[in-house]
Amino acid sequence: MEINLYSDTQTKPTAAMYAAMASAAVGDEQHGRDPTVNALCERVAALTGKQAALFLPTGTMCNVIAFLVHCRPGDEVIAHETSHVLMSEGGGAAAFAGALIRPLPGAQGRFDAGQLVAAARQPSRYSPRSRMVVIEQTANFAGGAIWPLDQIQAVADAAYARGLIVHMDGARLFNAVVRSGVAAADFCAPCDSVWIDLTKGLGCPVGAVLAGSSGFIENARVWKQRCGGAMRQAGVLAGAGLHALDHHVERLAADHRNAREFARLISAHPAVTLAPPDPETNIVIFDVGLRRGSARDVSARLLERGVRIGALSDSRLRALTHLDITSDQTAEAATILGSILDDFR
Ligand SMILES: *Cc1c(COP(=O)(O)O)cnc(C)c1O
Repeated sequence: MEINLYSDTQTKPTAAMYAAMASAAVGDEQHGRDPTVNALCERVAALTGKQAALFLPTGTMCNVIAFLVHCRPGDEVIAHETSHVLMSEGGGAAAFAGALIRPLPGAQGRFDAGQLVAAARQPSRYSPRSRMVVIEQTANFAGGAIWPLDQIQAVADAAYARGLIVHMDGARLFNAVVRSGVAAADFCAPCDSVWIDLTKGLGCPVGAVLAGSSGFIENARVWKQRCGGAMRQAGVLAGAGLHALDHHVERLAADHRNAREFARLISAHPAVTLAPPDPETNIVIFDVGLRRGSARDVSARLLERGVRIGALSDSRLRALTHLDITSDQTAEAATILGSILDDFR
């Protein structure tokens, strides 16, 4: 069987999750009458400490709708230069909301309050209006690095002092929660809006939940309708989400252990440099220095040997652990990678 470390989105529903989906009570979600969707939204609102929440098909749509609600065309969004909103959403902020993204550098996918203060523009008819800031928890392309609570608080304080809105892309918020022991509501308290992905470590087939104030969610619901995201008997999907929140949160610790073990095993190889050196959650990013062949060649050769790991560039690969990966598979993937790297050296 293939060892699929390409992404934590690659999980298939467990038998218990299918059972929860099959037995979910359903209704017309578009009319607010799907009881399971409503239960999921109440659950996520409570977990994130927000007034209300909205079930959406994807995390990308959560970000787009947040931009549409918070921004006017010509507004500027401040985000890290490696953020998913900038790198991997097809320019959605610009295409739909007319917002431009101002990239900030910084180690571990993070920037600090000083950088934000320097970047936020003074109101002027010449400048775009600085409108909101995005914090990505965990930072995907920084190897799942966690934004510490005090740094979120400091950035949010600086943002509020400048009248900026704070939005959290919490695709992997629960990885941060489980690893750090900080409650989800505490991470979210400094943020105006936040969303969690059900299809990453939580292991659902479809879905994400956006949360914020009742006024924000009311506006988000209008944009959901306009974007074609309003659904019908979506309780079958929300049932998977509730099941995941009950059963798949604590177990993220196992993914973190597997990622650390994978990192430890592969870092013993002289061709491998971990980036960052110490993966905090379930994402392992590493560079390969080879005489012959690139990271893309390594990725292709891995696939021939039954291991799927994506190349981010000619020298960089990214592996993610998740629900469908055991510790034995982690070790086996590391062994196969080592032998392929030997061939390329
Ligand atoms: C996966 C991801 C998204 C997009 O979520 P989808 O549900 O795949 O649309 C956004 N931000 C981050 C940080 C992600 O990892």
